[in-house]
Amino acid sequence: MALFPDLVPELKAAMPQLRGRLLANEPLAPLTWFRVGGPAQLLFTPADADDLGYFLGALPRDIDVTVVGVGSNLIVRDGGLPGVVIRLGGRGFGETSADGDVVSAGTAALDKRVAEAAANAGLGGLEFYHGIPGTIGGALRMNAGANGRETKDVLIEASAISRDGTLHRLSNAEMGFSYRHSGADPALIFTSARFRGEPMDRATIRARMDEVQRHRETAQPVREKTGGSTFKNPPGQSAWKLIDAAGCRGLRVGGAQVSEMHCNFLINTGSATAQDIETLGDTVRARVKDHSGIELQWEIKRIGRALD
Ligand SMILES: Cc1cc2nc3c(=O)[nH]c(=O)nc-3n(C[C@H](O)[C@H](O)[C@H](O)COP(=O)(O)OP(=O)(O)OC[C@H]3O[C@@H](n4cnc5c(N)ncnc54)[C@H](O)[C@@H]3O)c2cc1C
Repeated sequence: MALFPDLVPELKAAMPQLRGRLLANEPLAPLTWFRVGGPAQLLFTPADADDLGYFLGALPRDIDVTVVGVGSNLIVRDGGLPGVVIRLGGRGFGETSADGDVVSAGTAALDKRVAEAAANAGLGGLEFYHGIPGTIGGALRMNAGANGRETKDVLIEASAISRDGTLHRLSNAEMGFSYRHSGADPALIFTSARFRGEPMDRATIRARMDEVQRHRETAQPVREKTGGSTFKNPPGQSAWKLIDAAGCRGLRVGGAQVSEMHCNFLINTGSATAQDIETLGDTVRARVKDHSGIELQWEIKRIGRALD
């Protein structure tokens, strides 16, 4: 494995009050659903929002910063990521709570936990989060959604820290949401969010959550090493139908395969590299373009650099 220069000693010396964990050359593959990719030059797990602000404020401006959630929508390339990868931990950023019709969550909280917190408080409307395997940070960046609802429909406001370490609040409108996208400054690291629920009978909420779960188990390869929907649905079209029509169901490149169960999902069958998965995705795009004239857009984020 190619290693990056170790910047930990000099950064720690420049940040005497740092409380979070800073590691050099830390493998990222175990932190993603695909289980592929190279290391982070630095992996930082802040103790809390103040620690994150302190770190970013003191970090030299020429060092790149990338934030990840639980990697359910990510391909980390095989050469890894130079600079700092920030991963928020459950300890400082994983809280959920409910007050009146408002559900609050730290951005390391899993979407599923937020659906649970809402259900426990008798608040409906957030059941769709029950089936999305990411964190609230990923949901804010991706405008994650399912079952006809998306983050845009339920968010009141988000808190975030910018590259210079300062805290910001963004209203729903300021998040600039569109389909699987937030137009908010890409350098912002979301730290917490507040959602509006609708008072509802708990049994109805539970039944809806069960239905979300049941649908997933039968329609998606949820137990595989995957990244969820690979491509966005083009307006008025289903990506999976276009992929199927182009003859790509089950297609393989190295250890990567187009899922037989849901052909907008790519799978690491065990031995795939990030390169295999990305090449497979690009092959699918090219075949769909030839077959239907439609250019699929990646929904999965691809980060880092290829191996030389
Ligand atoms: C089996 C399966 C099913 C899925 N089903 C759905 C579905 O139904 N609907 C759906 O929308 N998605 C679905 N996904 C995709 C994925 O779960 C979502 O996109 C999720 O929101 C990603 O969250 P994450 O924490 O894994 O983010 P990651 O994959 O780690 O990162 C995704 C993006 O979010 C950014 N990000 C993460 N945390 C933060 C933060 N704190 N601040 C700023 N940016 C941040 C990252 O930089 C990156 O750009 C599915 C994935 C899988 C594997």
